[in-house]
Amino acid sequence: MCIRTLFAMSGQAFKPNQPRSVSRVIRAQDVSDGAGVRLKRSIGTPGFDHLDPFLLLDEFRSDNASDYVAGFPNHPHRGFETVTYMLAGSMEHRDHMGNRGLLDAGSVQWMTAGRGIIHSEMPRQENGLMWGFQLWVNLPASDKMTAPRYQDIPPDAVPVVELEGGGSVRVIAGEHAGVPGAVSGIATAPVYLDVRLPAHATLALPVTLGHHAFAYVYEGDARIGEGAGTQVGAHQLGVLSDGDGLEVRAGEGGVRLLVIAGRPLQEPVERYGPFVMNTREQIAQAVRDFQSGRFAQS
Ligand code: FE
Repeated sequence: MCIRTLFAMSGQAFKPNQPRSVSRVIRAQDVSDGAGVRLKRSIGTPGFDHLDPFLLLDEFRSDNASDYVAGFPNHPHRGFETVTYMLAGSMEHRDHMGNRGLLDAGSVQWMTAGRGIIHSEMPRQENGLMWGFQLWVNLPASDKMTAPRYQDIPPDAVPVVELEGGGSVRVIAGEHAGVPGAVSGIATAPVYLDVRLPAHATLALPVTLGHHAFAYVYEGDARIGEGAGTQVGAHQLGVLSDGDGLEVRAGEGGVRLLVIAGRPLQEPVERYGPFVMNTREQIAQAVRDFQSGRFAQS
């Protein structure tokens, strides 16, 4: 199913009453994770642990196979959700329950780990460009031990809103211009938009007041936020102040960015590698359950 909607059909352009501004610019750090995959990490670093409910944001982009070919062999998760969005390349996912899936360019996997999964995420290519993102979204305390769940979205099922004057918005979660995203039923009511704007184009979009939000630029640059805005370049994340909407003005080379927002949980966060719970005792329990093989029994 392919859904294309003209922005012009949605009526007047949105204008925020209380526009958000960039309160902090985070530069992504070069890190290595899994079995040696090179990543750019902007959330989940010693300097920026999390932006409730978002626990981690990685961008992986390389056409050098040695940067990604080792992949992410079997590892566990408990207590949160992982969202993988591919721009290029192909990854295969397998888990302890026998689920298996292929993530191709343009596809999304929203995985609710809940009480626990053991999975692998491995490249299905030995050369060429591998490019995408992984976001970790926290679960409320009441859902941390829920059963694991997947929402696998093929490329054509991600709605694309074509913008007047060029550019587009892929609506992965939340909505844009009345077009609902591909993913639904997530506890933190997230918005996940992939925005492309040509040179000097502007876009204003609503963002729910009180929800935490950020913009991650992955190509080009933009001025983001109220008034003249703040310059945000490639591999930089602009943390947004509160407000009911956001304005983005593309730089002279155009811009591609993710706009992500969600309801903050305002609960204690205890994290230890692939486990994110509310208390140290719950983390210790997660380690015991994994080591004793209980993840694989669920
Ligand atoms: Fe994983």
